Amino acid sequence: MEMVSGVHIQYYFVCHRKLWLFSKNIQLEEGHERVQAGKLLHERSYKNADKKELAVDNIKIDAIDGEFVREVKVTSRMTKADRWQLLFYLYELKKRGLSKKGLISYTKERKTEEVILMEDDQRELDKIIDRIYEIVEQPHPPKVINAAICTKCAYYDFCYAEEGDD
Ligand code: SF4
Repeated sequence: MEMVSGVHIQYYFVCHRKLWLFSKNIQLEEGHERVQAGKLLHERSYKNADKKELAVDNIKIDAIDGEFVREVKVTSRMTKADRWQLLFYLYELKKRGLSKKGLISYTKERKTEEVILMEDDQRELDKIIDRIYEIVEQPHPPKVINAAICTKCAYYDFCYAEEGDD
């Protein structure tokens, strides 16, 4: 696999199978409704803003605003995954000599949270990154998780059709 990216971090917290499938370039997200909604939101949120996008190696950050890295999400449903994704960006920037703080805005709930990268987070991220490599190097995909989020996942048909064939 190439370097770990923000998407890998997100999927690690959502579903290890999704992480594995994504890492094999089985990417069904493009036409998926919720992803499209997210993209639209992204375009609208930043359209007229004084945005500075940043793309370096494995990281692609929506906007850098002074001392803050900003992320905009539709809802706070994936809070933990969103928070770790932002911490990952802050960590990757820090490795490159840029110290920033993070802000996540949830448009539906109209709230914004500050995210600060601590020493413990960095140690945890090192472990998470190692674990991601372990998962994606497995020869077979992790098991279907049978969770409520599956019905909203772009891999739903793929996962459940395959399960039915067992
Ligand atoms: S449908 Fe469920 S098990 Fe399959 S990748 Fe998505 S979240 Fe994971």
